[in-house]
Formats: sequence, C-alpha cells, structure tokens
Amino acid sequence: MSKIVNQVKSTKQFLMINGERVETSKYAPLYSPYSGEEIAQVAMADKGLTKQAIDAAYNARGVIAKMPAYKRAEILENVVAILKEKSAEAAEIISRESAKPIMFAKAEVERTIETYKFSAEEAKRIHGEMIPFDAAAGGVGRIGYTLREPIGVIGAITPFNFPMNLVAHKVGPAIAAGNTIVLKPASQTPLSALFIAEIFEEAGLPAGVLNVVTGPGGTVGEAIVEDNRISMVTFTGSPSVGIGIRNKAELKKTTLELGSNSALIIDKEIDIDQIIDRCIMGAFSNQGQVCISLQRVYVHEDVYEEFVTKFKENAKKLKIGDPLDPGTYVSALISKGETERVLNWIEEAKDSKATIQAGGKLQDGILEPTIITDAGRSLKVSCQEAFAPVVIVNKVSSVKEAIKQVNDSRFGLQAGIYTNNVKNALYASRELHVGGVIINDVPTYRVDQMPYGGVKESGTGREGIKYAVEEMTEMKLVVWNQS
Ligand code: NDP
Repeated sequence: MSKIVNQVKSTKQFLMINGERVETSKYAPLYSPYSGEEIAQVAMADKGLTKQAIDAAYNARGVIAKMPAYKRAEILENVVAILKEKSAEAAEIISRESAKPIMFAKAEVERTIETYKFSAEEAKRIHGEMIPFDAAAGGVGRIGYTLREPIGVIGAITPFNFPMNLVAHKVGPAIAAGNTIVLKPASQTPLSALFIAEIFEEAGLPAGVLNVVTGPGGTVGEAIVEDNRISMVTFTGSPSVGIGIRNKAELKKTTLELGSNSALIIDKEIDIDQIIDRCIMGAFSNQGQVCISLQRVYVHEDVYEEFVTKFKENAKKLKIGDPLDPGTYVSALISKGETERVLNWIEEAKDSKATIQAGGKLQDGILEPTIITDAGRSLKVSCQEAFAPVVIVNKVSSVKEAIKQVNDSRFGLQAGIYTNNVKNALYASRELHVGGVIINDVPTYRVDQMPYGGVKESGTGREGIKYAVEEMTEMKLVVWNQS
C-alpha cells in the first residue's frame, strides 16, 4: 500500500457530510496515473447520499450566514496556517493522484495558500452602497442602500488539473461570503479535496458548512445540479459537461469556467531569448493540462525561424518521468485514454501539411512535449482544446493577421501578446475576443486575485476571490421613507 494512504490517515476514504465521515456501500480503487499503483479506495456516493449532503448544507445555512465576518475570516486564516504547516504533504497528495510533477504541485499548494488568504481578507470587505435617492423626483425624502447577502447552498463541481487550488477558488469565497457548500471533486482527484475538508474541520468550520461527496459526475454531479435547494452551481471543467449543467440548472445561478485553446502572438523585434522560458512553461507545465495552456503561437515572419529553433531546442531538454522526482518537468497525462486521444490528433496533423518539429511520440508511456508547425485551422490540434503538451506554431506577417487567427476559435479565455509596439499592444487589447489579454507574457499567466473567466465556449462568470464573492452573494435593496 502506498505512502499517501497513510498520509490521508486511512486506506479507505469517506464522504464528509455534516462534519462526519460517512461510509458508502460501494468503493472504487483510485490508481496513480503515472505508475498504475492503487493509492486509495474511494467512497462512491449515490443520489441518496448526495441528497443527504445537500440536507446538511441546507440546514447549516443559518449558522454560517449569521457568523460575523471576523469569525469567518479567522477560520480561513486558520486554514492558511494549517496548510502552510502541511504544505509538503499537500503537494505529495496532488502529485500522486494527478501525476502533476512535484515542482508544479508545490507551486499549486503555494497558490492555494494565497487563495485562502485572499478569501480571509475578502470576508471583511463585503459591503453594499448608498443610492442617491433624491436624484429622482420620486426619491426625495428617502434614503436607501444595498446589502450583499449570502446566496445559500452552493454546489461546487471541480476538475482534476488543479485539484487543490480550483477547490479553493470555490470553497474560499463561498465561506468568505457566508454560504454552505456541497463539493464534488473530479473522480481522479478526490484526495486533495478530502484533505482540505479535514483542514477546515481542524480550523473550526462548523459541521455542515462544507460537505464533500465523491462519486461519478453523472450521479453525484447531476443530483447536485437538479436539487432545488442549491442556489448556485459553480463548475470548472470541460465545455461539454458545463453546457449540460447550464441546461439543467434552471433558475440556479451558474458560473462556468471551461476550456480553451489559448494563443500567443509574438511581434517582430521581440528578443526570443528573453521569452523562450515563459513559452516553455506556458505550453508544457502540468503536461499542458491547464485551461490557459499555450496551445497556439502566431509568430511574426521576421522572428519565426529563430523562435521555432529555440523553442524546439528547449522543449527537447525537458525531463520526462516520475512526477515525484524533483527534476521532472513532464509526466503522464491523467489517463491512458487521454494519451490515445492526443496521439490520434497528432496522427491527423501528420497526415496533413503540418510538420512535427519535436515530440509527437511516447517515452515510457509519457507523451513528449510536441511542437507542430504549419498546422491548418481545421485540424483538431488547432481548433479544439488539446489539454496535453502539444502546441502549434504558425507564421504571420502582421499583428492584425495574428489577431484574426487568435479570434478564429470557439473559445476565448485568455490571450497573450509579446510586442514592443505600444500601438499594437493597445490594438490587441481592444480586438482580442477573450476574458483576459496578457501583454508581454504568455496567456498562461494567472494570479489568484485577478478576475478570471472566459467568453464564448470558455464559459460565463468570473472567479478571483472578489469577483467570485460577487457571484456568490445576492444584492438586497433597503429603502427608508423618512417622512
Ligand atoms: P470534466 O468536465 O470531465 O469534469 C469536471 C467535473 O465535472 C468532474 O468533477 C466530473 O466528475 C464532473 N462531471 C462529469 N459529468 C458530469 C455531469 N453530467 N454532471 C455534473 N458533473 C459532471 O473536466 P476534467 O476534470 O477533465 O477537467 C478538464 C477540463 O477543465 C478542461 O476542459 C479544462 O480546460 C477545464 N478547466 C477550466 C478551467 C477554467 O478556470 N476555465 C480551469 C481548469 C480546467 P467525474 O470526474 O466524476 O467525471
């Protein structure tokens, strides 16, 4: 039995409902995506147990909604302190269950700590505003203001690729705003979520405020989305599942953080040596399983050859292997099925006019960092989300042409542009149809307090603590008649 099982205190994992560890009649083995070894036995909830978790969250609404802001902040500060102490253990859990190389797992834990820290701070500044009632003839003699009230029970459904920080982006602001939560983590990465739930318990969160239900998306996720006591569904994951959720959610508020095929523009006169490391990180960190992973690069013809040569050279140097090895940069994709899918996409590219400049094959079952040039717009590696260490690089003759190609996508999460030309930067920030334009960096740039979310099939709503709190609260108006 592997070490991680001891670290999470049991070989058998439980659901967390109303502050109690709840057993299920069915368990499923969880395997390491890298080694294939069994790392835990995970409780498989059914619709009845999911309903039980919703009951608990529904009944605990008053407890957290009435808790003063400073106490909610204190609990979140406690989480920060405990997670700092347990950061090495947390990183290992992420790495084992998702095959995220340990250097990136450690970075995820650092960001998770920041996300909860921002949440603690945000809990203290949730407020409404005075409305100038006498600006209308009918408002003379009245005063009025808005309040922000907790929305109620939040259903949070999370993906595998940032199993700790993307849980934090939902749980942190939900608690800051005084809501209760039913959390359904991705089936491949339940351990990070259960680990965090234990930390919240230790931090003093009352029973029933955070409930974690593990099990299949089609059962647990759907039971959450269909229950009318859930006021909001916050989902991060693939566009197809997200759109299905939106269609079933009826009047529930929904925030959808979905996928992308993020692009970068490199203008002429850019010093390629200065940007190459960022491009490598953007395309290949977490083996490309990042919603803003760099998947398409449009390079000005003046620097195109130099960029392709240096990008290739650097990609070939990346260490491939065991995610727990501190030197590993690229490890296994989340499943064999995903690896097969991407290899088929690469085959499709090979059969076209495109050229595979690096990678394109497996090394001990791990897909090598893959760079493809001259990829046509209708190839899957161009127009769909690769979610793998695969990037296309195409030549353009102007920033205008590049922007047209970036916008030629169903998705619109973030886009980046490297340019020394202020006019081109301004033009790009205006014309790129995305949720965030990153000037002089890759589209993969994110810190956790910034507003984050997409347009088109990349989703709706924004995360980033302050913005998530807005989504997770209802505005109430109070008007006083003074006469
Ligand atoms: P999935 O959409 O496959 O799964 C996401 C979550 O939804 C999982 O918990 C899954 O459960 C659950 N789920 C599956 N089916 C249903 C259903 N019918 N009803 C309700 N819930 C369901 O995504 P992945 O985990 O594969 O994550 C990868 C995707 O996430 C990529 O597209 C990526 O771009 C996107 N993403 C977006 C981010 C953003 O902020 N915009 C950030 C990170 C990732 P189960 O695991 O049991 O199937």
